[in-house]
Amino acid sequence: MTMETTTTDGSLETYEGLLAAISASEGTPVLDPATGEVLAHAPASTPADLDAAVEAARAAQPAWEALGHERRSAILVEAADAVDRSAAALAELISREQGKPLNGPGSRFEAGGVSAWLRTAAATELPDETLLEEPRATIAYRAVGLVGAIGPWNWPALIASWQLAPALRMGNAVIMKPSEHTPLSVLALGAILGQVLPEGVLTVLAGDRDLGAALTTHPAFGKIMFTGSTATGKAIVAASADNLPRLTLELGGNDPGIVLPDVDPAAIAQDLFWGAFINTGQTCAALKRLYVHEDVYDAVVEALRAVASQVPMGPGIEEASALGPLTTSDQFAIVDRLVEDARASGGRIVLGGDPDRDAPGNFYPATLVADIDAHAALVVEEQFGPALPIVRYRDLDEAIALANGLDVGLGASVWSADAAAARTVAARVQAGTVWINSHGGVHPMIPFGGIKGSGYGLEFGVEGLKAVAVPHVING
Ligand code: NAD
Repeated sequence: MTMETTTTDGSLETYEGLLAAISASEGTPVLDPATGEVLAHAPASTPADLDAAVEAARAAQPAWEALGHERRSAILVEAADAVDRSAAALAELISREQGKPLNGPGSRFEAGGVSAWLRTAAATELPDETLLEEPRATIAYRAVGLVGAIGPWNWPALIASWQLAPALRMGNAVIMKPSEHTPLSVLALGAILGQVLPEGVLTVLAGDRDLGAALTTHPAFGKIMFTGSTATGKAIVAASADNLPRLTLELGGNDPGIVLPDVDPAAIAQDLFWGAFINTGQTCAALKRLYVHEDVYDAVVEALRAVASQVPMGPGIEEASALGPLTTSDQFAIVDRLVEDARASGGRIVLGGDPDRDAPGNFYPATLVADIDAHAALVVEEQFGPALPIVRYRDLDEAIALANGLDVGLGASVWSADAAAARTVAARVQAGTVWINSHGGVHPMIPFGGIKGSGYGLEFGVEGLKAVAVPHVING
């Protein structure tokens, strides 16, 4: 069977056209983090809007599933093409709303990632498997039906694509609730994809945490994908208990990096810096606490200072900016509190730590804190911002114990001139992913997910497709 899809008239390929298509004349104000001024208003969807979206999704999903993998994949490739045509406009909107720079690992990279994840989901196969020939047993993976997706504000469009691309690929209909701080970027993505997807297959509903809570208790959803804080993840587990939807929970992290004594500090400083400061530190799997062996400690701190002091910070939409503002004033306050606590408890501020609290926008300077106590709040709490604590260690076992000592386990990294030695250490670190000589890079075919308080379930690759499907075993 075929389904009608609408075609683009090009209006979503400019920033003005995109914003006009998704913003509301009244509704929830969305702030520009670089100025504190209102950027635009997002529609405020209600539980009644959620019910209407559920009805539309229920009506559309069976035909979407019946299209089959090949046709759905072809439509996802068309969707990626549409994202590419609107990439410049989408990137500008992300920079204005979320704050990240256009360049480097910024909003143009984010828009490109959305396209890449759609294309990879389209190209990934999940065939039926024969488990046993005699007695015969097979397993197939079928659509769940309706998938609900709730997202954070740090990589709004990219993380939305991580949720919707595999879910659509497997034949589900998707209803998304973006963060109240960055609804426009996800509404824009929904509008762009709406040019090629059948009506009702994907709906983006902007709303606050109450709308998120309504989604997690709605009986329509067979699967809920959540990316956000550990506290909200726990609330979703409790709220969803009556309906028992399947859950993927990508929660907070506090990723350690362990630097072994054999490194060349100057050679690793750039990668260490960007591992920690990507998106101005607002990244789930960023390097958030660094443990450096005493033999190279001073040299690593100095090499990091040399890199960090050269990185320009400014509004995301200025081409020269490499770091932007924090997305929310609340996040600014968290970073400010943790750095002041570190200073008061004897940490040495090597760089930064001196924000202009009266200036417009949520700009907190890149900050390095050395000689900090291993149990200071800046080390053991997730800062989610541009302030890196650097802890000195003498004994590797002690460093590994500190790395494993928290109740989260998203990512981690080990840095060494000897890759085999680094892998041996990596095997002892409790995290969903341990990188060697880099931190935080994700790939659409490499499964990603946390352990402990960082959540459960995997995204990306074949594992990611299985996570938005239900298994169907035929035995006999
Ligand atoms: P958050 O938990 O405050 O909000 C995330 C989303 O949940 C928002 O859309 C919000 O409206 C919604 N929400 C809030 N309360 C809810 C409830 N009771 N029921 C349903 N939905 C609810 O998180 P945030 O501040 O937007 O994001 C920052 C956090 O996300 C950090 O801890 C970061 O580490 C984590 N994060 C994790 C990953 C990952 O892949 N593991 C990726 C990005 C961010």
